[in-house]
Amino acid sequence: MTTADGTVLGTTKIADSGPAARRWNLVITGDGYTGAQMGRFADDARSFADTLLATPPFDSLRDAVNVYRVDVRSTDSGAADPAECGGSAAAPRTYFDASFCTNGARRLLAVDDTTVLTLAGDQVPQWNMVIVAVNSTVYGGSGGSVAVYSLAPGANEIALHEIGHTAFRLADEYDYYRGCGVDTDRDRHPFFEPAQPNVTVDADRATNKWRDLVLPATPMPTTSNPDCSQCDTRPSPVPAATVGAFEGAHYHHCGAYRPQFDCRMRALGHPFCAVCTEQIRRTLQPYLAARED
Ligand SMILES: [Zn+2]
Repeated sequence: MTTADGTVLGTTKIADSGPAARRWNLVITGDGYTGAQMGRFADDARSFADTLLATPPFDSLRDAVNVYRVDVRSTDSGAADPAECGGSAAAPRTYFDASFCTNGARRLLAVDDTTVLTLAGDQVPQWNMVIVAVNSTVYGGSGGSVAVYSLAPGANEIALHEIGHTAFRLADEYDYYRGCGVDTDRDRHPFFEPAQPNVTVDADRATNKWRDLVLPATPMPTTSNPDCSQCDTRPSPVPAATVGAFEGAHYHHCGAYRPQFDCRMRALGHPFCAVCTEQIRRTLQPYLAARED
């Protein structure tokens, strides 16, 4: 279970908006793909890049983005899936040691970050963000210094969510850790302001950090969870595009707020909310401005 369990084959630029020195360079590599599966990895990387560049707000920022595919062959197919999280106990030999069940949560799929970061720097010295596609259909992903996603149904959606963490410093907007009805230690968020731009402990319209996007007619907070021992499962009382302060966010039922009822950082399949969209734009805009240099 080391880099002895695979080989780096090479790098291909699969989305080209200009020289690496002036663009935001995303690197995608794969774990748990055997030599015979490299064609599949190329297809998966292509599918991811096409989805990314067609998804708002990336669709209007695509001239800022390059995507590089780094082919890495693993000895075995798949990812480790520990039995202690209810997995199959599979333990394939893969280059980046991808494994589910990080911190005891099966959905948390992680890799050896150091190996990934070293590879990115070697292959694309001007890399800005690196994501690893893991050749398993078990649901999972993570977004630390490296973004990771599996090939479960909706794989590209998982990837977009994890990129939100890794590249844009966005927090999870959902209100559970292991699951609604499972967690017993997620009733109330600690009273400190999270650094991430899309979650807050402050629902006061005078001081809330995304208050510029909140209309005067929108109540603050917009929703309050009536039972802090549970996830709030009621439907939204306001139209979907409303920016306010919705209680239940950042792994806690109460005491933390998210900007819109739904967002890709809360549940897959929803667009990024206005606050997340603005953060992505702010990060990528400078690479557009450099275009005419
Ligand atoms: Zn959001």
